Amino acid sequence: MVIIKRKELSLAERLYLPEIVRGLTVTFSKFFQKPITRQYPEEPLPTNEVTRGQPRLVVKDDGNIACVSCGMCEAACPAYAITIDGGETDRAIEREPKRFDIDMLRCILCGFCEEACPKDAIYMSDELELADYSRAALVYDMEKLKRPASALRKRMDYVNHINDRWRT
Ligand code: SF4
Ligand code: SF4
Repeated sequence: MVIIKRKELSLAERLYLPEIVRGLTVTFSKFFQKPITRQYPEEPLPTNEVTRGQPRLVVKDDGNIACVSCGMCEAACPAYAITIDGGETDRAIEREPKRFDIDMLRCILCGFCEEACPKDAIYMSDELELADYSRAALVYDMEKLKRPASALRKRMDYVNHINDRWRT
């Protein structure tokens, strides 16, 4: 049997004095620092291409949606937030969704849909705000999700750039 001999605590240690002094030192040092309160929403959070906001669908320069309703994002979504019904188009080879919904209340902004998409058709936008009066209004349909490619360009370039490491 191994007997572990504990160190005897001093009176100050038994009264937690070192911890109290350390805690008070941190508290008092903060008194003299500039407060960092953000006056939201007047002062919104800064965003950039790294921001992983709500997912949005890309509309190509020819006006067509880039999505071909392959369902990869729907399968990859861990929150089961995406619902797609595919449909045919008059354009050669291409398909496009007849219905593409994302339940924003389920979406956890993980970005798996962006990673899974083989057609560069869905990207995480810098849109972070989400508020409405009913749960149904927060299930975004295709019209609410569509964004011109130019609006998502910075994020598209950023994702392409970080994916370059897998291409070399
Ligand atoms: S960001 Fe994640 S949770 Fe949200 S729709 Fe895409 S895969 Fe689903
Ligand atoms: S993975 Fe891309 S192309 Fe396929 S359904 Fe999702 S958004 Fe559309």
